[in-house]
Amino acid sequence: MQKVREFHRQSIQDREAFWAHEAQRIHWETPFTQVLDYSRPPFARWFVGGKTNLCYNAVDRWLDTQGDQPALIWVSTEVDQEIVYTRADLSREVNAAAATLQELGVVQGDRVLIYLPMIPQAAFFMLACARLGAIHSVVFGGFAAHNLAQRIDDAQPRVIVSTDAGSRGGRPIAYKPLLDQAIAQSSHAPERVVLVNRGLAPMDLTAGRDLDYAPLRARHLDALVPVVWLESNEPSYILYTSGTTGNPKGVQRDVGGYAVALCASMEYIYGGKPGDVYFSSSDVGWVVGHSYVVYGPLLNGQATVMYEGTPVRPDAAILWRIIETYRVNALFSAPTAIRVLKKHDPALLHRHDLSSLDRIYLAGEPLDELTGQWLSEALGKPVIDNYWQTETGWPILSAQPGVEEVPTRFGSPSFPVYGYDARVIDEATGQDCGPNQKGVVAIEPPLPPGAMSTIWGNDERFVRTYFQSFPGRLCYSTSDWGLVDDDGYWYILGRTDDVINVAGHRLGTREIEESVNTHPAVAESAVVGVADQLKGQEAMAFAVLRNPAVLDESGARDRLEAEIKRVIEQRNGAVARPARILFVNSLPKTRSGKVLRRAIVALCEGRDPGDLTTIEDPGALDQIRDAL
Ligand code: ATP
Ligand code: MG
Repeated sequence: MQKVREFHRQSIQDREAFWAHEAQRIHWETPFTQVLDYSRPPFARWFVGGKTNLCYNAVDRWLDTQGDQPALIWVSTEVDQEIVYTRADLSREVNAAAATLQELGVVQGDRVLIYLPMIPQAAFFMLACARLGAIHSVVFGGFAAHNLAQRIDDAQPRVIVSTDAGSRGGRPIAYKPLLDQAIAQSSHAPERVVLVNRGLAPMDLTAGRDLDYAPLRARHLDALVPVVWLESNEPSYILYTSGTTGNPKGVQRDVGGYAVALCASMEYIYGGKPGDVYFSSSDVGWVVGHSYVVYGPLLNGQATVMYEGTPVRPDAAILWRIIETYRVNALFSAPTAIRVLKKHDPALLHRHDLSSLDRIYLAGEPLDELTGQWLSEALGKPVIDNYWQTETGWPILSAQPGVEEVPTRFGSPSFPVYGYDARVIDEATGQDCGPNQKGVVAIEPPLPPGAMSTIWGNDERFVRTYFQSFPGRLCYSTSDWGLVDDDGYWYILGRTDDVINVAGHRLGTREIEESVNTHPAVAESAVVGVADQLKGQEAMAFAVLRNPAVLDESGARDRLEAEIKRVIEQRNGAVARPARILFVNSLPKTRSGKVLRRAIVALCEGRDPGDLTTIEDPGALDQIRDAL
């Protein structure tokens, strides 16, 4: 652990020298004059005065050495198509998209909203915006009209890029009617809407506003659009947080800091080098899609796999099949996807040649010990838990095998990543916690390069939301509970808003879930706090069984419930024992895989579940209702 500790120490104590060195990874058209300007805390400005461009660094810089090598590999099991774009192909497509936007009047600083499924055009238009210095705001394709309208109002895009339809489970999902509704609901009207017509759903074009992309692309296919060199701290994009807590914020990112941070992470965290193939199964609408489907791998000269489809179609071996076909070196996925695979035939894990694969990274929600261990043992590959947020843009806590191979522990995302002065802070006193003492995971500012610069258009909200949680201390709060054990391994114990109070005892629902999940019959679970007249709140658990058929046996339900309660009592104490353990076939989750606790609590308390537009499967809520 010596090396990784020392590397981290340098990054904090000798911050400017550390990052000045890392900044050499990218091309600077004009060198920066100051590594860090922290004259206005908590706002950090990195690589001040330096001029660079994300598109140039991701595309143009690699044309000489890798022009004919794969850069973007698109696999769609939805429309049964696979296309490999070389770096030269990518350059051509990005330039055509940039020329199109330019023709429509898009200039530096304009916003372009991208509402697209996992198709290559999403990456082309993101990079095209970067080339022009326009600010992209990708809105997750699963969002409905209301969410989209909120984001249109906030970002005020000059142009929107969208499509006729996405596809899920082989069925088209129309986008255009949702977009039309959203534009009608919002108070801002885009000048133009560019539509990628996939031929999946009929589409009405609004005359004077809507344009079919095909003829525009054809006209601009040989265009070479000059790169707009941007000062490092100009905004590159706005990305709204997923809204698990029901309140989207426009996370604003810079240019130079983001490029440097991502490039470095590809080597130190993901063990990648130019020419390697990286596969993140995230959607481009989320931060992982921005950082590790599009920018990170391309900036580092790696090929990226973009996948449209689910992890179980045509069967639960599809991720492994893609890894075999394209000789993928690193896979980035989410625990929720892996828990789904756990319910399928384990033989599927061994059907494909995974010899190219070095490691698997999982992020976005807690990776429970059992799932991590199951996957690692089944595949014989290291599984690395990554902890981070939309706000930070790249991992806060992670093993860093590119710095040093250190044993991981299941249930722990290992250590703070270089650049992050991470702390665990006692909410009440604002003081750092000692070993094994639970507190709020925080980052002592300045935030490192690549982290958010501010909330779009609202500096005051940025300070208030993230930097005012601790008495007398200006420190970034992640709003997650955590602790550090005696050996320096970190643990995330759930969100600060997921804590329940049972008869004066404060309990993290995450800890109770971990206990439920240790029962061998359980695949996954959700625990929530429900109002109780006597105790204030009490825990209520919903469990998904690996094999729901076991419930058919007489008395099985009561027996399982009693067994699980006993485990919780043993591990978390009698106060944590849930009032009920109810069995369901699936949990209500957002499309990014996070359990919609708010909605479950509302149902348990007999209230309206509220805004459910991000829900993956509305049927899961009916199950909760029925179980109650
Ligand atoms: P919002 O902030 O709008 O409520 P969100 O927090 O769900 O939405 P993200 O930025 O996508 O949006 O998610 C980051 C959060 O996900 C973290 O703060 C943490 O709660 C959880 N998380 C991410 N990775 C991990 C991990 N490896 N272990 C535990 N929790 C994780
Ligand atoms: Mg959050």
